[in-house]
Amino acid sequence: MDFDLTPSEREFQAEARAWLKANVPREEESDGEGLAAGIERRRAWQRKLYDAGYLGLAWPKEYGGRSATLIEQMIFNNEAILARAPDPVNVIGLGMGGPVVIAHGTEEQKARYLKPLLTADEIWCQGFSEPNAGSDLSALQTRAEDRGDHYLVNGQKVWTSLAHVAKWCMLVTRERKEANPREGLTYLLVDMESPGVEVRPLHQITGDPEFNEVFFHDVKVPKSQIIGQPGHGWEVAITTLMHERGTLGLALATRAQITSGELLEHARRLGRSRERLVRQRLAQHWIEAKTIQLNGYRAITATMRTGVPGPEGSFLKLAWSELNQRMAETAVDLMGPMGQVENGGGWQYAFLRSRGNTIEAGTSEILRNILAERVLGLPRSR
Ligand SMILES: Cc1cc2nc3c(=O)[nH]c(=O)nc-3n(C[C@H](O)[C@H](O)[C@H](O)COP(=O)(O)OP(=O)(O)OC[C@H]3O[C@@H](n4cnc5c(N)ncnc54)[C@H](O)[C@@H]3O)c2cc1C
Repeated sequence: MDFDLTPSEREFQAEARAWLKANVPREEESDGEGLAAGIERRRAWQRKLYDAGYLGLAWPKEYGGRSATLIEQMIFNNEAILARAPDPVNVIGLGMGGPVVIAHGTEEQKARYLKPLLTADEIWCQGFSEPNAGSDLSALQTRAEDRGDHYLVNGQKVWTSLAHVAKWCMLVTRERKEANPREGLTYLLVDMESPGVEVRPLHQITGDPEFNEVFFHDVKVPKSQIIGQPGHGWEVAITTLMHERGTLGLALATRAQITSGELLEHARRLGRSRERLVRQRLAQHWIEAKTIQLNGYRAITATMRTGVPGPEGSFLKLAWSELNQRMAETAVDLMGPMGQVENGGGWQYAFLRSRGNTIEAGTSEILRNILAERVLGLPRSR
C-alpha cells in the first residue's frame, strides 16, 4: 500500500497549508462569544473558504466545486484540522445537502440550491428524526398531503441541529401508508421561513441549544421542492445517511489524531505523563486513533472506486465516537476531582459534548448492526 502523495498532491497540500496559515482566524477571537456570534463567525469563515476555492472541492466545477479528487478533499480537511480552522457553518449542507442534490436533484434544483449553500447564504438542516422514529427512521409519521401543485405538511421532527438558523430543511415525509414502511415516503426541501414552521430550541447537557424541535402546521411545500421521485424518498434518505457517515468519518479520522496529541500535552502539563497506568491509557488511545486514520484511507480508496461512500463510513463514525468518549474521560480523570468543577482547557465541555457522539448520525448499536450485515455478511437483525 502506498501512502505517499503524488507531486501534484504535495503541491496542493503546500498551497492549502500556506493559505490556511495566512487566513485561519485566531482562537482568541472566539473566546467567550455567544452561540449567535459563533454562527456568524463560522459563516464568514465559510465565505472566505468559498472565495478561495476550497469548498465543495470534489464537487463538479459546473456546480461551484473544483472537480478535485477525494484525496485532495482529504488533504484539505486534514490541513484545516491541523491548522485548527473552525468548521464551516453549513456542515449539514456541505456534507449531505449538496451531495444529495447533485445525486438526485433536477438541473433547476442544482442551479437554485448549490451556490447559496456553498457561500453560506443559506444554511441547511436535516429533518429526519421524530419523537417515535430515530434509529427506525421508516417509522416516521410527518405527513405530506398531495394538494395538486403543492404538499401540505403536518407533523413534528426533533433533535434538528441548526434548525434555528437554517433556510432549508431536508425533510422526509410520509405521503402514503404502505405495507412496507420504507415505501410511500417523499423527500422534500422545506423553506424554514414558510408560514406554519415553528422551531423550539432544545438544550444539550453542555447547556448549548445546538438542536431543536421543529413543528409543521399546514406548511405548503411546492412540488418543485421534491428531491427524487414522490413516494421514493427512502432512496434519497439513504444517500443522505451514507454521505453523513462518509464525510463525517473522514474528518473524524484526523480529528482523533489531534485529540490524542492534545491529550498527551494535557497529561504532560498536569505532570502525570510518567505514571504507568496513565501512559498505557494514552498509548492505547493513540493506537486506536492511528487505526481510525488508516481505515480512513481505506474508506477513500473504496469511495473512489465505487463513487459512493460505503460501510467504511459507519466503521469510522463508530470507532471515533467511542474513542472520543474514552479520550475525553481520560482527560477529565487526569484532572482528579477538579475535572468535575473546572473546564480545564475545554476538556470538561468536550467530555459532556462527547456523550452525544454515540447517538448522532446513527447510534453505536445501529452502526454495529450495519457492519454485521454489510461487512460481515450476517443475516438481517429484523
Ligand atoms: C447531538 C445530536 C445531533 C442530532 N442532530 C440531528 C439532526 O440534525 N437531524 C436529525 O434528524 N436527527 C438528529 N439527531 C438525532 C439522532 O439521529 C437520533 O437521536 C438517533 O438516530 C437515535 O434515535 P433516537 O434518539 O430516537 O433513539 P432510539 O432509536 O429510540 O434508540 C434508543 C436506544 O435503543 C437502541 N436501539 C434502537 N434500535 C435498535 C436496534 N435495532 N438494535 C439495537 N439497538 C437499538 C439505540 O442504539 C439506543 O441506544 C441528533 C442527535 C444528537 C445526539
